[in-house]
Amino acid sequence: MNVGEIQSQIQLADSFLQQKLDDQAQATFEKILTYNLAEASALAYFRLGEIYNRKNDVFLSEKYHRLAFTTNAALCGQLLPAEISHRNYLYHVPEQIEIKTCPICSSGAKDHSVYNIAVSANFIDGFDPIRVWRQCNNLDCSHIFASLIPKNLTHILSKTDSSVIQEPKIHRLAQIGQVLSTLTQDVDIKTCLEIGAGAGEQVAVALEFGLDVSAVEIRDSYCANLKKTFDINVYNQSIEDMEFQDSYDLVLMGDVLEHVIDPISLLKNLKKLISCNGKLWISTPNFESAMSRLCKTQDPMWQVCEHLQYFSKKSICYAFDQMGFKLVEYKSSFQYNGSMELTVK
Ligand SMILES: [Zn+2]
Repeated sequence: MNVGEIQSQIQLADSFLQQKLDDQAQATFEKILTYNLAEASALAYFRLGEIYNRKNDVFLSEKYHRLAFTTNAALCGQLLPAEISHRNYLYHVPEQIEIKTCPICSSGAKDHSVYNIAVSANFIDGFDPIRVWRQCNNLDCSHIFASLIPKNLTHILSKTDSSVIQEPKIHRLAQIGQVLSTLTQDVDIKTCLEIGAGAGEQVAVALEFGLDVSAVEIRDSYCANLKKTFDINVYNQSIEDMEFQDSYDLVLMGDVLEHVIDPISLLKNLKKLISCNGKLWISTPNFESAMSRLCKTQDPMWQVCEHLQYFSKKSICYAFDQMGFKLVEYKSSFQYNGSMELTVK
């Protein structure tokens, strides 16, 4: 079999995939493996990993995804376009912590799905490129979480701490305004704490609404920028380590909870800093969102390496129940398709 013939077999297999004919694609990729050509085999293993994931065979999916990398450690160079910075990534498995039980309810869990996350644009070297998601066995919870977390997670994330200040997303301001007008409607909300304030879009809108705003931000460069731009109180630390003296009428935490190893400890900490009539607003991706149900394995959230938790309305409400939080409002997000926005008291 010459290279040209193998190439046409790959095209044939890919055309089966485009027509969603997984069985035919699988048979063709298995045939390609018999030619023992490293790059063709690596591609075939990668595609078979995806096919087995769609067929809910988690064991074979992980096996083939790892074989793709052990056959060609430079698989990313083979699969990714030139503009992706980690195209030069070489496969290695970092030291990891295995999470066996559900971080929400401590029940046992089973493997749910497998993705090669190194082929997505936001991959960070230091994470295992093969993400095995695990799902809680407790039917009242059913939370999904990453089964393996890099041992030196903080160090890996700090390396991504760019000194470049992220440009504020001006187009988001109107949507944030909508969220805040609902949140500030019914009670006399005066003080606000934003967790993970980033470039400060929500801080800016909360100030426009006349609130006394403070912020928590882990990245140094963002912190300095927030202080300089808004002249507000900014705590430069991780929310998980914070000891608060003050309480706040409104706590905003957008797109943070899915990043933490222990969401329950974080929520416990938050409970302490909300004033008696105060509210907590959380936004986080929902694996039972309309988008995720329609996109299935194509839902891009499965491939975000920094996401360690994937909630549903049910699993996050299970966590709220444990904390004594009461759900006031559920909304699907205007800002991020597939995310949910929850307000609790
Ligand atoms: Zn659970």
